[in-house]
Amino acid sequence: MTKRIALLGCTGSIGQQTLDVIGLHPDKFQLVSIAASKHSEALAQQIARFKPLRVGLSRPGTGKLLETMRFNPQPEYVYGAEGLVALATDPEVDVVVVATSGQHGFAPTLAALKAGKEVALANKEVLVMAGELVTAQAKASGSQIRPIDSEHSAIWQSLRGESFITPGGDENWAEANDKVGRLILTASGGPFRSFSKEQMANVTVEQAMKHPNWNMGPKITIDSATLFNKGLEVIEAHWLFGLPYAKIDVVVHAQSIIHSMVEFLDGSIKAQLGTPDMRLPIQYALGYPERLSNEYPRLDFTKLRELTFELPDTDRFPALRLAYEAGEQGGTYPTVLAAADEEAVRLFHERRISYLGIAELVERTLNAHTNVAHPTLEAIAEADSWARQTAILFSEKQAINSF
Ligand code: MG
Repeated sequence: MTKRIALLGCTGSIGQQTLDVIGLHPDKFQLVSIAASKHSEALAQQIARFKPLRVGLSRPGTGKLLETMRFNPQPEYVYGAEGLVALATDPEVDVVVVATSGQHGFAPTLAALKAGKEVALANKEVLVMAGELVTAQAKASGSQIRPIDSEHSAIWQSLRGESFITPGGDENWAEANDKVGRLILTASGGPFRSFSKEQMANVTVEQAMKHPNWNMGPKITIDSATLFNKGLEVIEAHWLFGLPYAKIDVVVHAQSIIHSMVEFLDGSIKAQLGTPDMRLPIQYALGYPERLSNEYPRLDFTKLRELTFELPDTDRFPALRLAYEAGEQGGTYPTVLAAADEEAVRLFHERRISYLGIAELVERTLNAHTNVAHPTLEAIAEADSWARQTAILFSEKQAINSF
């Protein structure tokens, strides 16, 4: 059976790699619709190649050039948040890939789950900020969330075959807590893994953008250097697999070969290994329950010199500590963590704060926040914009030495 796919966020790094996977398996996947924020040459090429029936854009004006272009067939254009929801609930779609960034993913994810679609989720903010609402919706409608994040895909793959739930799965989510000893998320440690704090004080945007293993977008690459990405992934894992934070550990594994592990109650550990290539977790999420073939580079054990493991240092990488604290507190704290970090990363890219200033700015914003327990989508949106404004205000005041 061909799976019919809606790809929200088609021009970003995950979006483009998703199209690679779809292009490799024309007998398995049909691209029904794509969405991007605005017109680009890349988007026009994607429409010409994959011939989607519908194309989502943020506003009519942003697509002006595109809309004057001739395609065969001519796609139907939809706009804004409503347009994303229309693509996500399209009766002609089986799988919705959510690869948009930040808050744009909330409404289509909830709508797709409600409509009974499979959701292949690459936008981790959806679970970080709205994990309670999203997992409740998935449970209520019996829809499945398939993680695209490599660590969560590794855990999902390691859980398969056990006698209980997987997020892809068929059984009861609530039982995982009793059957799993702990989840072990691996972190590459990023480009500054062995830097002292003094060395970190002077790192540049260019240095931070050089990730040793993964090919990713500009926001997540900086988040990998600070370990904010791993912190967000801890919260993502908490919601996805229903485990308490005390059962979610992080280990630094510089080679990014083991993508994460599950330790069971008997002490046995299952891991998923592979080359660091995002197309693997994308293909797994799209193809599930089938494992499809490909000709991507293979892991050659004889060429691996070593696999190393170390405890993450939360003094040099405070982001991880902040994420655990925000996750444990729950409510709107994880939203504030993610939103303040996004602003901080933008300010760092614009060279308005230093690398060490990113975590400092997020911590100050968290400290100034008044929590809202069990937030609605409106409360989440409010906390998100409060966090962004507060972070910007703090950065402008230059009240922190390292800014
Ligand atoms: Mg990841």
